Amino acid sequence: MTLWLFDIDGTLLRSDSAGRGAMGRTFEALYGISGAFDQVDFRGVLDDGVLQRACVRWGVPLERDRFVARFQGELEAGMDPASNPAQQLCPGVLAALDAVAALGPVGLVTGNWKVGARAKLAAFGLWERFELGAYSDDGPTRAALIRVATQRAEAAGHDVQRVVMVGDTPNDVGAALEAGAVAVAVQTGWTDVADLMAAGPDLLLPDLVDGLAALLALGAREVDQSSSGR
Ligand SMILES: [Mg+2]
Repeated sequence: MTLWLFDIDGTLLRSDSAGRGAMGRTFEALYGISGAFDQVDFRGVLDDGVLQRACVRWGVPLERDRFVARFQGELEAGMDPASNPAQQLCPGVLAALDAVAALGPVGLVTGNWKVGARAKLAAFGLWERFELGAYSDDGPTRAALIRVATQRAEAAGHDVQRVVMVGDTPNDVGAALEAGAVAVAVQTGWTDVADLMAAGPDLLLPDLVDGLAALLALGAREVDQSSSGR
């Protein structure tokens, strides 16, 4: 069966930079430095890497567990889509999750820490929709996270014949290709379509409304055992 893996930011939802804000407030609370992440590009990167680089940049000791614990509360407080219309699901997400769930297990592969992924998705009532996931906590690169998520699906008893990774950045596409997954790019994030195309995705979709039929066709297709496993 097909394992369906989704990135979060720009793929499933937009948080109106709630993660960046929570990072900044946490950094200021712990180290007394404001605006530490103002110039940081968060697209497609892992939270651990963002924090490590900030600690080097500002010359402060890395206190990861303490940081993440505080960050969780800051992000949960910052996620309120009922009162912030800029926090919204990307088009077609609910129907797409329903449709792929009928074809195989559904999981997350995201650069968020697990507590951040949960805070963002729970704000939309979606956390329970994902049977498994791999997060910044679980490995150093997105390709490693795809492998971890696949192992978790297999450990849960799923016979994974194909992995489909849906993301919105060239980093998602590159990781999928490196990990032997089918790379699906959606244009609902903040990346120019030319840059997405240059990354070489197997499938490039405008969003999960117009692209849903093509996405589902990936899971319906017979697995060719002579192929590279993709
Ligand atoms: Mg993303």
